[in-house]
Amino acid sequence: MNRITNLPSTNEFQQMDAAHHIHPFSDMAELNQTGSRVIVKGDGIFLYDNDGKKFFDAMSGLWCVNIGYGRQELAKVAAKQMGELPFYNTFFGTTHPPVVNLSKAIAEVAPAHMNHIFFSSSGSEANDTNIRLVRHYWASYGKPTKRIIISRLNAYHGSSLGSASLGGMKSMHSQGGLPVPNIIHINQPYWYAEGGNMNHEDFGVMRAKELESKIIEVGPENVAAFIAEPIQGAGGVIIPPQSYWPEIERICTNYNILLIADEVICGFGRTGNWFGSDTFSIKPDLMTIAKGLSSGYQPIGGSIVSDKVASLLENQGGEFYHGYTYSGHPVAAAVACENIRILKEENIIASVRDRIAPYFNQQWSKLTEHPLVGEARSLGMLGAIELSPEPKSRASFEAPEGTVGLITRNICIKNGLIMRHVYDKMIVSPPLIITENQIDMLIALVWKCLDESKKVLKVKGLLNIGSRRVT
Ligand SMILES: *Cc1c(COP(=O)(O)O)cnc(C)c1O
Repeated sequence: MNRITNLPSTNEFQQMDAAHHIHPFSDMAELNQTGSRVIVKGDGIFLYDNDGKKFFDAMSGLWCVNIGYGRQELAKVAAKQMGELPFYNTFFGTTHPPVVNLSKAIAEVAPAHMNHIFFSSSGSEANDTNIRLVRHYWASYGKPTKRIIISRLNAYHGSSLGSASLGGMKSMHSQGGLPVPNIIHINQPYWYAEGGNMNHEDFGVMRAKELESKIIEVGPENVAAFIAEPIQGAGGVIIPPQSYWPEIERICTNYNILLIADEVICGFGRTGNWFGSDTFSIKPDLMTIAKGLSSGYQPIGGSIVSDKVASLLENQGGEFYHGYTYSGHPVAAAVACENIRILKEENIIASVRDRIAPYFNQQWSKLTEHPLVGEARSLGMLGAIELSPEPKSRASFEAPEGTVGLITRNICIKNGLIMRHVYDKMIVSPPLIITENQIDMLIALVWKCLDESKKVLKVKGLLNIGSRRVT
């Protein structure tokens, strides 16, 4: 693609950006020195920058553009809805067609026991809603002491005060006085780095049982809910052992604790089913949704609520003093509806389950043969590579965590591949409409970038083995 010539030059964009725009999750001094990448167009699985350079977007934006870029149907629906009713709220006894249609469409694809949705504009807001909702549920139930929410270290549940408190990111908690009270964390089911010599399944059960110990420690009469992503995304595509979820579910049921599945990444086809909860056969009380709900075309999220929770709140909860101006925003809702229609009518999720994900998983696992790779894991259309200077011992690097990952990430960008790094893990989450040929292209690109990274690391003396090593 040629440059879109009526736009300012990249340099001009970068200067204006540096002068006025504060970026999320960025060291601004550093960013303003290198200059932002200026992305101007998307088409299918590809992105184009302001200089016409083409990128293979293996991250679906931020895990969200499930149906790919450039679907004009969504643009048309948005324009039509803006012309008809650009905004009206859903407070004080009002509704409108897009939000009714979307609620019904979500209920149809959600697990059978979940039929009600509370809308927000993002995953963070939806998780803030969940915090208030589960506490309000237990208070209405007659158990107001059940307030504690248990989450996991290295979880990601959003960036607002409440949702970042639910999250288990140490760096986030170090700023702004987080976590808020009554949110506590247990360890994650991250076998590669924390499983040592245990086998996957024993390790999965052990990590799940930490939930039970924590509930007993603080008293089940004080615990409202447990929240977790079916597969941890931003933490580095951490896929739990098969033994993990059944044990978690058993514990939640046994101690009468609500289970919140944060489906913001796993939802809407990412794991080959509509929800990660379907893939892991779990029956949550609440599910957080956002991202793939609209394929990122509009900011919209929500909490899908089970019949059990919804009916108690309806009968005993009274008014829930909570809502966002944009809860169920008509344009966002119309676009999400159209996205769900496309996912259904084009059989995108079934083809991910039956054809595309199995092929991706098979090809991705071959990356284990690369001399810089300690593990190449994937499930559905989520994949991670653990970089290691000594793959057979799952060794970490001597350099500070993330040094090697960042170098590798920059090599990827240079080669036109958008693959993210989380410390020294490389992760992908490609659009669900990716083809087998494009998967081959992706694997070849990843392999090339790893080769280049290995060379650079050698020259820089960064291939020394660190302290974490399994012998
Ligand atoms: C991205 C994400 C969120 C937060 O969603 P936002 O729309 O960025 O607020 C919450 N949970 C998970 C699992 C996510 O990946």
